[in-house]
Amino acid sequence: MGSSPPGGRGDGGDVASPPGSHVDVLPLRPRPRPSESLTGYLARLADANGVRAVDALSAICFSGQDRRIPRAQADYPPRSLAALSAASGCSRAALLGTTFYHLAVKFGRSPAPQPLSRFLAGSVAPHLRYCPACVAESGSHSLAWRFPRLRGCARHENRLLDACGHCGQPVPLLAAPLRIGMCPACRGDLRTCVAVRLDQAARRPTAAFARDVAFLLAPRPAPEDDREGARYIGRRLGRARRARGLLAAEVAMGLSVPLGRVEGMERGNVVGRGGSFADYVAYVDRLGLSIRDLFTSALEEAEIGALIDESTAIA
Ligand SMILES: [Zn+2]
Ligand SMILES: [Zn+2]
Repeated sequence: MGSSPPGGRGDGGDVASPPGSHVDVLPLRPRPRPSESLTGYLARLADANGVRAVDALSAICFSGQDRRIPRAQADYPPRSLAALSAASGCSRAALLGTTFYHLAVKFGRSPAPQPLSRFLAGSVAPHLRYCPACVAESGSHSLAWRFPRLRGCARHENRLLDACGHCGQPVPLLAAPLRIGMCPACRGDLRTCVAVRLDQAARRPTAAFARDVAFLLAPRPAPEDDREGARYIGRRLGRARRARGLLAAEVAMGLSVPLGRVEGMERGNVVGRGGSFADYVAYVDRLGLSIRDLFTSALEEAEIGALIDESTAIA
């Protein structure tokens, strides 16, 4: 750690500039892969360009911002993507797609790191979870792996690993030597770690949640007004609850949350009494729906919005 990155030998770029200086464009500029996480992309970008220290990466991709920013990176949208966009040649939109930005928008939440990390509290792991076979095949990290509820890899039908299979240490999201597939603690090869097979009973729920997460992280349509999104899904939750003959108080008890939070979710509150992501997931589970069901019907409703008679919807 702390070693200076090599100079841009033969590739025309002065990648080795010390922290604090301006480097606008990296010589090698891979694009983010589908579903890739920002931290994984940053590591891959650094690796491609021989940048090994997080401070050097910081100086290049987050110049003008607090040096701690990359160290604190946990796939929330950074306050500014201008330097990273210039360095990587990727559009702001492509970079936002590597973060929890689209999930925040769908739930009508602020994508700023602090409120978004509060919304996702308890729903995302603070360190890397990974499928060794996927890392070997794609050389990248999926943003979906951050959700512990996603038990395994639907493609390889094995459980995701929560730590390095060689030394047992949790793997930081972004750490020197900024190499995909290498454990920063023991330098072991994460791609060769042994993953336990996903048991039969866990396969269907894993595949279903993988589809839900893919939907939430993708820039699919949501009702135009961010806050409207939370209102529509809230109404949909309320209607589904009533259709099942459940009282809000019963749901609150089942979810072990205050009644006000269930009411807040149904009203589409996005602050104060609004639910967390974990609350929405638990509520959807309780109703036997999927997250995508909730949004699909909310979208249909948004399209015919004006035609819906509020008084019958809330009866
Ligand atoms: Zn896999
Ligand atoms: Zn290790």
